[in-house]
Amino acid sequence: MFAMACHGAIELGPKMAGTGCPSITSFSSGLMKYIFVTGGVVSSLGKGLTSAALGALLEQRGLTVRLQKFDPYLNVDPGTMSPFQHGEVYVLNDGAETDLDLGHYERFTCGELSRLNNLTSGQVYETVLTKERRGDYLGATVQVIPHVTDIIKERIYAGGSEDVDVLITELGGTIGDIEGLPFLEAMRQFALEVGRDDVLFLHCTLLPYLKAAGELKTKPSQQSVAKLREIGIQPHILVCRTEQPMNNEMRRKLSLFCNVPVKAVIEEMDVETSIYELPLALKAENIDDLVIEHLGLDAPDNDMKVWHDVVRRLKAPGHKVEIGVVGKYIELQDAYKSVYESITHAGIANDASVRVIRIDAEDIEKDPAKYLASLDGILIPGGFGDRGTEGKIIAAKFARENNIPYFGLCLGMQIAVIEFARNVAGLENANSTEFDPHTPHPVIDIMQDQKDLTTKGGNMRLGACPCELADDSFSIHAYGMKTISERHRHRYEFNNTYLDQLKNAGLRIGGINPERQLVEIVEMPDHPWYVGVQFHPEFQSKPNAAHPLFANFIAAALKYKK
Ligand code: GLN
Repeated sequence: MFAMACHGAIELGPKMAGTGCPSITSFSSGLMKYIFVTGGVVSSLGKGLTSAALGALLEQRGLTVRLQKFDPYLNVDPGTMSPFQHGEVYVLNDGAETDLDLGHYERFTCGELSRLNNLTSGQVYETVLTKERRGDYLGATVQVIPHVTDIIKERIYAGGSEDVDVLITELGGTIGDIEGLPFLEAMRQFALEVGRDDVLFLHCTLLPYLKAAGELKTKPSQQSVAKLREIGIQPHILVCRTEQPMNNEMRRKLSLFCNVPVKAVIEEMDVETSIYELPLALKAENIDDLVIEHLGLDAPDNDMKVWHDVVRRLKAPGHKVEIGVVGKYIELQDAYKSVYESITHAGIANDASVRVIRIDAEDIEKDPAKYLASLDGILIPGGFGDRGTEGKIIAAKFARENNIPYFGLCLGMQIAVIEFARNVAGLENANSTEFDPHTPHPVIDIMQDQKDLTTKGGNMRLGACPCELADDSFSIHAYGMKTISERHRHRYEFNNTYLDQLKNAGLRIGGINPERQLVEIVEMPDHPWYVGVQFHPEFQSKPNAAHPLFANFIAAALKYKK
């Protein structure tokens, strides 16, 4: 999607409590190795988490890791897909709208990802067809092999850079999907090209448990490995998702039928408390040793202190707090993935367990106090379209009037502005032109330069933009620095025509984009903690380095807890 990004390369985000990345010596070999992760039997196996956790393990051993996702669907990117279809759209610094697995990659590992790290069939075919129309194929018949597979292989080569030791490429979907075949074929060819010793295939599978028989079944896994072998791929490691522990007999059986050594049959049980236990759970199965041995890497073992610390804090929190998330896609676990993860990270930073109460914005309208009065903090995440907006405005008002810490993300900031305009500044029926194109007071609107882009077919402000923070604001106190960089994904902006009027009525402008004078942060000064941000801080938080605004929001919720 054509987008209005602020500018290209930008320094990475806010100063956090450390970078979230371990200070370990790099043992870079100078030679790149490749891991391909596939999935069998069913979708939603957690391949993305497994890939991210493996990345974390290899990083702990001093290796520089990058992760990449191949999605076989035909959309060019997930930017146009509904959260009901696809969960959250994860945005990178360069403005790429990507699969939510890239969020796991960035949370578990340190390398910065770019639009090169997410490839869809839509992009592959778009590239091939553009080349064909330009005459680049010089009269050849254009085919899946080699033309489509060549584009995929180019992306594998481009996925790392000179300083990367290991590139992990995860293939979305399940073995047997028609759309996934060109990707698997490209991976097979790639392994032949670079040499088998530099490539490792890891296959994630499910062992269903039959209660009546009291048994874990291996047949579906055998069949999905057989399908892989049919197209010339022999997995080296089998990661088995299972609800019950595997016994040795089970491991031997899988080894025999799937042609994988017994020690490479890895058990992956559901984790107890949190996804952040996964690196340690996989380490207990020695998966990192297997990878390092197979790829001939020289990387000393590590005690995983960073991850032990994260898990210890998660499991024995000293405090408790209750946060209401008021949204539109409340029933969907994945729609606000990064928001929920960032809340967890902020809990870790504050030694608190955070109970998230998910509230459907439409429910609030009838009886706000019933849903909101007992909360220690209220968060309104991003969103599009007008369903539920009046309920969100009521929630923002409730937080402001009752001194409940409030955190508005993107749409949540726009909601705060509308609420303040209507109920404090006296601008009756103030609104965003997204929800009411004829509002008498368009306090949130599309800016003229963005409107010009609309005619060209795209009009989102996407990716990292700088923001200068106001002195004595909640925000500068949280970040501890004057200039920050945060990621955006929105069309509408604070309308500066109303800037003076809203400021005079008591709204604090906490941050401004220095290039276009856009309001990035609004705050309520006489309030325990009330911050609305036009950007998406949830895309820059890590379990061991909570985003400063999330960390301060939870700290405020704890401090003013009823
Ligand atoms: N719908 C709003 C806009 O487009 C907010 C978008 C968001 O929350 N990501 O500006």
